[in-house]
Amino acid sequence: MATYDIAVIGNGLMGSAALRHLALSCPDMKVCGIGPAEPRDRKTHQGVFASHYDQGRITRILDPSPLWGQLARDSIVRYPAIEAESGVIFHHRAGCLRATDIEERVADIDACAAVYQPPHQRLDAAGCQNKYPFLAFSDEFVAWDERGEAGYINPRQLIEAQLKAAANSGASVIREIVDSLEVGGDGVSIRTREGSELRAGKALLTAGGYSNILLKRKLDLPTKSHTILLAELPPNEIKRLRGMPSIISSFDHPEVESLYMLPPVLYPDGKTYIKLGPSGRNEQFFDATEDDRELAPWFQSAGNALTAADLKAALQRMIPGLNALAYQTAPCLITYSAHGNPYIDELEAGRLYVTTAGNGMGAKSSDEIGRIGALLCATDEWRSDLNREDFRAIYADGGSK
Ligand SMILES: Cc1cc2nc3c(=O)[nH]c(=O)nc-3n(C[C@H](O)[C@H](O)[C@H](O)COP(=O)(O)OP(=O)(O)OC[C@H]3O[C@@H](n4cnc5c(N)ncnc54)[C@H](O)[C@@H]3O)c2cc1C
Repeated sequence: MATYDIAVIGNGLMGSAALRHLALSCPDMKVCGIGPAEPRDRKTHQGVFASHYDQGRITRILDPSPLWGQLARDSIVRYPAIEAESGVIFHHRAGCLRATDIEERVADIDACAAVYQPPHQRLDAAGCQNKYPFLAFSDEFVAWDERGEAGYINPRQLIEAQLKAAANSGASVIREIVDSLEVGGDGVSIRTREGSELRAGKALLTAGGYSNILLKRKLDLPTKSHTILLAELPPNEIKRLRGMPSIISSFDHPEVESLYMLPPVLYPDGKTYIKLGPSGRNEQFFDATEDDRELAPWFQSAGNALTAADLKAALQRMIPGLNALAYQTAPCLITYSAHGNPYIDELEAGRLYVTTAGNGMGAKSSDEIGRIGALLCATDEWRSDLNREDFRAIYADGGSK
C-alpha cells in the first residue's frame, strides 16, 4: 500500500496550490494530490465535477472585504513565480473595472483601495464612458479601474502550472476519485473509486462542492448552481472591444443584481467569447452531501434558461449593440461558507484538515488559501497575519471544532 505524510484530496484550484506549497515548503515530506482530471465529455461523465472548467476567472485586489483583498494580493504577487517554475502562462493583465451604484459598497471598496493601494483610477459614469466608449453605465455609477496585475487568469492553466511545479518539487499527482476517508489514531486511510488504497499521516480535504460527501460530520457548505453565458464574437466586435477589462458590476436591478464579465477570450474550440455570469435569482441550492451522483444531472445540463435570458439582456445593456454570432450556456457550481470567507481549519486533531468554500471568488486567491491550508496541515500552525477565527469551519449543526 502506498503511504504518504500528507495526501491532498482534490486537485482543483485550492488543492493544486496546497500541493505546490507542501512540496516546496516541506521537502522532507512525501506528499500527493489525489483528484481526477477534467472530464472529456461533460454530458456523459458520471464521476465528480468541479468549478474550474473554463478559460477565465477574474483577478483583482479591490473588494468590499479587506480579507478577500489581502488573500488576492498575496496570491497575485506569486503568479510570476508559479509561471516561471512551471513554464505555463495563465495570467493576463487586462485590468478590472469594478462598478456599482450601491452606496454602501462605495465606502467598502474605497477602504480596501486605501489599505492595499493597487494601481487604480476612480471614475464616474462619464469617466467610464470616456475610457471605455463601448460600455454603458447610468449616471449613478462609481467605478474603480484597477490596473497593475488585475485582469484574468485561466483556471485550467493555473491548475496545470501548480501541479507541474508541485511535481517538479517531488509531489505525486494521482488521477483518481476518493471514495472514502477513515481517520484513525495513526493516520488516514483513503480508498479510491479506481480501487487504490493509500495511507497518509494527514489529509487536507479540498474537494470544493464535493467536500461534504467525504465527511461524516457535515460542514455548513451550501452549493448553488451557477449558469454562465458565452457570447461568440465576430472579428469586427473583437476589434471594437480591444482594451476591454474584466468587469464586475453590482447594481440595483430587479433581474440581475450583479454581473461579472470577461473580455474577449479565445476558447479551446478556436472561437472567441465574452463570458458573463450573474448573482443568480433563478438558480437552485443542492443538498449533495451523501452521493456525488446527485450533482451530475446539473453538470450534464445546459444550465438555467431563465438565467441565460437575463444575462443576454444584461449584456445588451452593458455593451449596447453588441453583435454576437451565437450564444452558449454552461453550468457551474458555487460553494459557499457560513461566514463568507473560505474554510481553512483542522477538522480532526492532527489528522484531517479542510480548505474549501471559494464563495464564487476563490480562483484568484487560491494560491494564498492553498498556502495557509497546506502549512496548517503540515505544521499545525496558523502561518498568516489574517485572523484564524475568520476561517473556522462551521458545521451544518451550527457548531465549530
Ligand atoms: C462560473 C464561475 C465563475 C467564477 N468566476 C470567478 C472569478 O472570476 N474569480 C474568482 O476568483 N473565482 C471565480 N469563481 C470561483 C472559483 O472558480 C472557485 O472559488 C474555485 O474553483 C474553488 O476552488 P476549489 O479548489 O475549492 O474547488 P474546485 O476548483 O471545484 O476544485 C475541487 C476539486 O476537487 C475534485 N474532487 C471533487 N470530489 C473529489 C473526490 N471525491 N476525490 C478527489 N477529488 C475530488 C474535483 O475534481 C476538483 O478538481 C467562479 C466560479 C464559477 C463556477
